Amino acid sequence: MADSRSAALFRRACRSLVGGVNSPVRAFKAVGGFPVFMESGKGAYLKDADGRRYIDYCLSWGPLILGHAREEIIAAAQRALKKGSTFGAATEMEVALAEALKAALPSLELLRLTSSGTEAVMSAIRLARAHTGRDWVIKFAGCYHGHVDSLLVQAGSGATTLGTPDSAGVPRAWAATTLNLPYNDLQACRRAFSKYGGKIAAVIVEPVAGNMGVVAPAPGFLQGLRELTRAHKALLIFDEVITGFRLCYGGAQSLFNIRPDLTCLGKIVGGGLPLAAYGGSRKIMERVAPLGPVYQAGTLSGNPVAVAAGLACLKLLKEENPYPRMEQLIMHLVQGLREEAEKAGSAVQLHSVGSMFTLFFCPSSISDYSSAQRCDRAAYGRFFNAMLRQGVYLPPAQLEAAFLSSAHDSADLTLTLRAARRAFEPA
Ligand SMILES: *Cc1c(COP(=O)(O)O)cnc(C)c1O
Repeated sequence: MADSRSAALFRRACRSLVGGVNSPVRAFKAVGGFPVFMESGKGAYLKDADGRRYIDYCLSWGPLILGHAREEIIAAAQRALKKGSTFGAATEMEVALAEALKAALPSLELLRLTSSGTEAVMSAIRLARAHTGRDWVIKFAGCYHGHVDSLLVQAGSGATTLGTPDSAGVPRAWAATTLNLPYNDLQACRRAFSKYGGKIAAVIVEPVAGNMGVVAPAPGFLQGLRELTRAHKALLIFDEVITGFRLCYGGAQSLFNIRPDLTCLGKIVGGGLPLAAYGGSRKIMERVAPLGPVYQAGTLSGNPVAVAAGLACLKLLKEENPYPRMEQLIMHLVQGLREEAEKAGSAVQLHSVGSMFTLFFCPSSISDYSSAQRCDRAAYGRFFNAMLRQGVYLPPAQLEAAFLSSAHDSADLTLTLRAARRAFEPA
């Protein structure tokens, strides 16, 4: 592979882009080998710079629920682009997108569009602090909320360890405003509130975790967070950047029947273009400028091309309702992977929720970040590369969610399982 076009491009990229990439995980450091440079995508497939085809289960990390290059989305984006790529002024289509989001997630009474999930989360945290007059935020180890400074904190050892920075360049004092608790541990959350209740502005959570691999919320966990935050007058923020429109037409909040105070959206809502959003009750959102004192802005926020793509994507999801079929396919895939792993004597855990899944190379069950840390990442790296060689593109890191799109079919799954049979190493 060292003489492939991808490898040559990577060497060239490293001379001008940091680490050869524009987002660190793309460098394949977690799985070894050269990153594959992509040339095009269509439906469930990616084509790389060497002309090799892959069945794609990474799907740009979540946005491509309808697969690559869906005609209707391209047409909508082209129509918008022809009318002008950006105005820095209000447009009718962004109102239509806001209305569609509100109709799908009733907890959104007012919202604001941004360009990335990071921005949406950063703004929601700022707003929560302004609304409550408090500074601290509870997050859960293994949940990722974008590269917001104060949320880049390490997993603490004790239940209520104050965060220390997980990235250079984050002031200790900022990380110290974050309490990092174990996912699915309501008791730890209860203790934190009884000790620091008056300081905590918000609890932010991925309602289904996708960034430590797929980990479902334990029964009662999300409900418990809702009750605790309400009792202590803190806000509950659902980071639905992955789960929004991934599990159903709406949010995980619709499935679990929980009304968060604030919600962050991203990925799918932009139909593959850069677009995200945050919103919540009118009373809270009215604190955002120009109505209120919380400043937040963006030159390309609500960009017409991204809005057009997002609207087209939501319209297709609503019309086609691909969710039940994707869920069936993924059950089949996960069951097949489990059987192949068993035959090879490979100790794995397979988690799936809706159309997201993770194959953990781990002998024991996983419910939070510390149990996910027990995975054999090297084994995943070998599996990943063996699948890649056979034309299956998984996320290039163990603790990430893999996704299915509505463009995948059972023939793709059969090929994937056949590849997996060879990729699992005999014990
Ligand atoms: C991807 C992601 C983000 C960050 O979104 P970007 O668009 O990459 O900034 C935030 N939260 C969650 C849960 C995510 O998966």
